Amino acid sequence: MNQALALRAAAFGLVAALLTRTAPAEDSHAHWSYSGATGPAHWAEEDATFTACGPGTDRHQSPINIDSAAKKDLPPIQFDYKPIPLKVTDTGHSFQVNAPPGSGGITIGADHYELVQFHFHEPSEETFHGHHNAMVAHLVHKNAKGELAVVAVQIRTGKENAFLKPVFDDFPAKGSTERDMPGATIDLTTFLPRTHGYYTYEGSLTTPPCSEGVRWLELKLPVEASAAQVQAFAARYSHNARPTQPLNGRTVAESKD
Ligand SMILES: [Zn+2]
Repeated sequence: MNQALALRAAAFGLVAALLTRTAPAEDSHAHWSYSGATGPAHWAEEDATFTACGPGTDRHQSPINIDSAAKKDLPPIQFDYKPIPLKVTDTGHSFQVNAPPGSGGITIGADHYELVQFHFHEPSEETFHGHHNAMVAHLVHKNAKGELAVVAVQIRTGKENAFLKPVFDDFPAKGSTERDMPGATIDLTTFLPRTHGYYTYEGSLTTPPCSEGVRWLELKLPVEASAAQVQAFAARYSHNARPTQPLNGRTVAESKD
């Protein structure tokens, strides 16, 4: 190869490398998806850190099907959210809004957790007597020890949801990971259902690495979103829901309200 050709080859190599670098963000991580060879049944094989996603009778994984629950005097979930910047992130598996420090959170009895982020699944991952809702929002919180508590808000088809409107009307463009609306804020308080009775159980993240020790708080009362809003989400992320997992001896508790 002469020098000019070598230079051109080198330049082509550089361009190719740059093009590769601008591939979707999830390509830089282990591949996992919701179907086929990289779907939920294969997550544990995808990466050495994903072993908790695999089968085992000692596993305490999420989501679950909630069929029966023991009514107990559970402390109420006290919500104390502050408005947060409306910046929507495309994680490659869902749309997510990250909460900056100081966004408020939840208190259950003596336990306080700060809001970290919220994201969506279509349909709902958790089922109730085997039934999925149209979607679910997972509101992820963390306490001072780094332990997670997730509040799940079921979404069924009905009236347009005013809280979801600014999020769902304008998702990040395909190929871009973020859509920022400078100055705009949203307040999760306005998204919560009228009453906050809940089911609770110990589970895991529903995405790799499927880490356990997650406190799940499943609100009983759903909120509504229009069919057009559900379709807008499904047009970008359809069936981004892990199948329900075995209880393996766990029980579900239910608040009396
Ligand atoms: Zn989730």
